[in-house]
Amino acid sequence: MASLQGRHALVTGGGRGIGRSIAAALMQAGAAVTVLGRGEKALADAVGQGCASGYVIADVTDAHAVNNGVQKAMIARGPVDLLIANAGGAESAPFLKTAPDQFRSLFELNVMGVVHATRAVLDGMRERRTGRIVAVASTAGLKGYGYVSAYCAAKHAVVGLVRSLAVETAASGVTVNAVCPGYTDTELVQESLAKISAKTGRSREDALGSLLKDSPLGRLVKPQEVAAAVLYLCSPEASAVTGTTLVVAGGEI
Ligand code: NDP
Repeated sequence: MASLQGRHALVTGGGRGIGRSIAAALMQAGAAVTVLGRGEKALADAVGQGCASGYVIADVTDAHAVNNGVQKAMIARGPVDLLIANAGGAESAPFLKTAPDQFRSLFELNVMGVVHATRAVLDGMRERRTGRIVAVASTAGLKGYGYVSAYCAAKHAVVGLVRSLAVETAASGVTVNAVCPGYTDTELVQESLAKISAKTGRSREDALGSLLKDSPLGRLVKPQEVAAAVLYLCSPEASAVTGTTLVVAGGEI
């Protein structure tokens, strides 16, 4: 499939994990891809491995840095047609052990990160009357999980933002959607498994079993499976799909 020829995609958090798989899938579909993140090593490696055309360094919680990064990407590869707001992160703790500042920092990363990236590209998309915005939310944006209240609250906010923005932009040629992966095999989940094992003394297999207890599929989602969903939402065929949450979670929702 090479239906994205001539398009420029910006993938936040595209240096590793789900973001890198999304970047690679967009490249394969013919798009020019800029990956954005904090760590230069992973970003440069993504470019070196052919998963992206170029990179810009920015922290998505810093609106000014995101704007500068987007400007640099546009000078190098033209206006951004496709924004994949993927950068995010989780922390787990019981609600009463989650300090207000932890809520704030997860909101800054998962919600304001999407807001800053969207603000940097939306005007241009509207002017050109074409654009795709895909936020990588989570099943945690659609249902509650214990011990991750701040993450769940933030991802629910991302889904609300997407639904609202879709209504505002529907008549302007721009679509806004979310993909909602279940537990996906990346560093984020591997770190959670290591933490559960360290805290409870249970084996990694036991810890994985507890994460997957609600998944009929019975395995972690592959990053490439999330990327395929994003690719669909970016395709010309999906031009009437907006405000949706595409769940990639093996029947969990
Ligand atoms: P990883 O931890 O593997 O990768 C996260 C990426 O985001 C990295 O490229 C990281 O790069 C970047 N990032 C983190 N913080 C910032 C920041 N402040 N500014 C810019 N970039 C940042 O996570 P995943 O690939 O697993 O997760 C990607 C997205 O998918 C997240 O939004 C996550 O919530 C969501 N998700 C993940 C699931 C899973 O089970 N793995 C399930 C459902 C949703 P760097 O640190 O260099 O900046």
